[in-house]
Amino acid sequence: MKRAFYPGSFDPVTNGHIDILNQARAVFDEVVVGIGIHPGKQPMFDFDERAALISACLDVPVQVVAFDGLVVDAATRAGAVALVRGLRDGSDLDYEMQMAGMNAAMRPGIVTVFFPASPPTRPITATLVRQIARMGGDVASFVPANVAQAIRSKVA
Ligand code: ADP
Repeated sequence: MKRAFYPGSFDPVTNGHIDILNQARAVFDEVVVGIGIHPGKQPMFDFDERAALISACLDVPVQVVAFDGLVVDAATRAGAVALVRGLRDGSDLDYEMQMAGMNAAMRPGIVTVFFPASPPTRPITATLVRQIARMGGDVASFVPANVAQAIRSKVA
């Protein structure tokens, strides 16, 4: 029984996140999504909203948990043997390699597994989705339909 932990902000969940989650689900028996909560940061969606949006756009039930503090601690609490991360480009790689190295040093029992972004979702970032939406742009091609609807209500 191999469980993985997929941490991120998911503010909001995008087609890119779903792509990585589906790739991870094909490899691991179970994937727990960890929504990182940063007390100093004002998110577009709070934890409950983010968790509900993720659950609503998936065809199978996936456990979603909140965490603050270290990702390796949250992954250990979740009983995970691996951390899932997505790679879009070289800058993701540089940053992710540093995190993977330091996480491995702190918790050698948990490995980081990278999945490559699929070409259609590769340019998507949640940060740009929020910026585009706040400027009145249409984000329907970057996020699941329920998320696009939730964003429309939020910025209306
Ligand atoms: P973002 O970087 O979009 O703000 P997160 O901080 O929630 O999103 O990222 C969580 C994880 O999902 C990271 O490993 C990130 O590289 C990955 N990810 C985010 N967007 C994509 C995408 N479009 N394709 C592949 N992986 C992605």
